Amino acid sequence: MEKVLGLRCRECDNKYPKAPLHVCEFCFGPLEVDYNYEEIKKRISRRSIENGPENLWRYADLLPIDGEPTDGHNTGFTPLIRAKNLGDVLGLNELYIKDDSVSHPTLSFKDRVVAVALSKAKEFDFDTVSCASTGNLANAVAAHAAIAKLNCFIFIPADLEIGKVVASLVYAPTVVGITGTYDDVNRLCSEIGGVYPWAFVNINIRPFYAEGSKTLCFELIEQLGWKAPAHIVAPAAGGSLITKIGKALKEFHRLGLIDKPNTKIHVAQAEGCGPIVNTYKENGDFVKPVRPNTIAKSLAIGNPADGIYAVDTVRNSGGVGEHATDPEIVDAIKLLAATEGIFTETAGGVTLAAAKKLIANGHIQPDEPTVLAITGNGLKTIEALENKTDSTHIIPPQLNAFRKLITEIGEGPVEDSA
Ligand SMILES: *Cc1c(COP(=O)(O)O)cnc(C)c1O
Ligand SMILES: [Zn+2]
Repeated sequence: MEKVLGLRCRECDNKYPKAPLHVCEFCFGPLEVDYNYEEIKKRISRRSIENGPENLWRYADLLPIDGEPTDGHNTGFTPLIRAKNLGDVLGLNELYIKDDSVSHPTLSFKDRVVAVALSKAKEFDFDTVSCASTGNLANAVAAHAAIAKLNCFIFIPADLEIGKVVASLVYAPTVVGITGTYDDVNRLCSEIGGVYPWAFVNINIRPFYAEGSKTLCFELIEQLGWKAPAHIVAPAAGGSLITKIGKALKEFHRLGLIDKPNTKIHVAQAEGCGPIVNTYKENGDFVKPVRPNTIAKSLAIGNPADGIYAVDTVRNSGGVGEHATDPEIVDAIKLLAATEGIFTETAGGVTLAAAKKLIANGHIQPDEPTVLAITGNGLKTIEALENKTDSTHIIPPQLNAFRKLITEIGEGPVEDSA
C-alpha cells in the first residue's frame, strides 16, 4: 500500500489522483494531500525518525513524495534555541525560538516548502519551476532550481527589498517584477499557468508544497523531547504555515508519536496587512481581502489562499490572533537581536511583537512552554532598520581620536594605566 492516497477537497471531500491540481472542480475548494495513516503507522516510530537524516526528510513518511527525495538534502533541522535572555525580559520561564532564520540554503522557512515542491515537480516530470512570491519563496525556488538544474521563472512585486531581489537574481533565474501587489502577481501567475506548462510551486503544486510547512512543527516537537509546547506563535502570509502546524500536531498524535497535544496556535500579522488576524478579532466567517501597507513585505498577502483555514486552526486550538504595527516590528527585531543574538527579518519582528501582546494580555502564562517561529533572516530586510539603530562612530585611525570619542559618548572602561 502507498502512503499517499491522492488529493482530497477540503470542502466537499471529493477525491483526486496525485497530480498537479489544486482546486476542486465541483466546489472550487482547495485540494489537500490525503494520506493513508494506517499504512504510515506501520512504518513510523520515534526511533525511525531519530535514525533518519538530519534534514526535513527524516519526516519523509509524512511528506507527499513517492520515490527518493531529490531536493532539500541540507534543508530543515534548524536550531531550537532555549531563549533564556528573552524569556527573562518577557517574564517567561520556558521560551524557545525555532530559528529558521538560518535555514539552508536561503535563510527562511521557505526552503522547507520548496524542498518538497521541487522533489514533487521532478516526479511530475516538469522541466520548469516558477512561483508568485513576496521574496523569500522567490529566493528558495531560485536556489533550489539551480541545484536541481530546472528552468526557473520568478514573479515578484517590483517594489521588494533589494536584499530579496538580489538573493533571487544571483541564482540566474528569469526574474519578473510586476508593478502591483503580491495579489496582482498571484493572479497573473494563475493566468500564465493556464498557458505555460510549468510547476508553479504555490499554485498548481500548492497541495504538495504546503506539506513541507509541517516539518517546522515536527522538528520542534522532536527537539522538545517529543513534547508539544503549550503555545506556538507563528506568522501568516497565505496562511499555510499556521494551517500545517495544526495538521502536524494532529498527525504526530494520530500516529502515536506524542500524547494528545494541548497546544494553542497563535497567529501574528502586521497591522498594515492582517486579514487573517482581522477575521479572528472580528469573529468573522470569511477573510476580507485588504490592500497591504506594511514593512513586513514577506507577509504582505492581502487575499490569503489558506486564510480561513488558518483562522479555523487558531480558533480550534484555543489560540489568538495579534497584530503588530511597523514601529512594534522594528522594536521586536532589535529586542531579539539584543537578547538572543538572532537577526530576524520583519516577519520575525511581527511574531515577537505579537507574542509580547499575548503575554501582556495573559494568553501566555509565565510557566507555559512557548515556541516562537522565527521564519526569516534580517540581512534580507535591512531597509526596515535604516536610521532605526545607533549609527557608526566614524573616526580617523588615531588613538587620540578614539580617546576623544569615548569621553564624548561617556561609555566604556576606564583606561588601564599599568
Ligand atoms: C512566507 C512566509 C511566512 C508565512 O507563510 P504562509 O505559509 O504563506 O502563511 C512566514 N514567514 C516568512 C519569513 C515567510 O517568508
Ligand atoms: Zn470540492
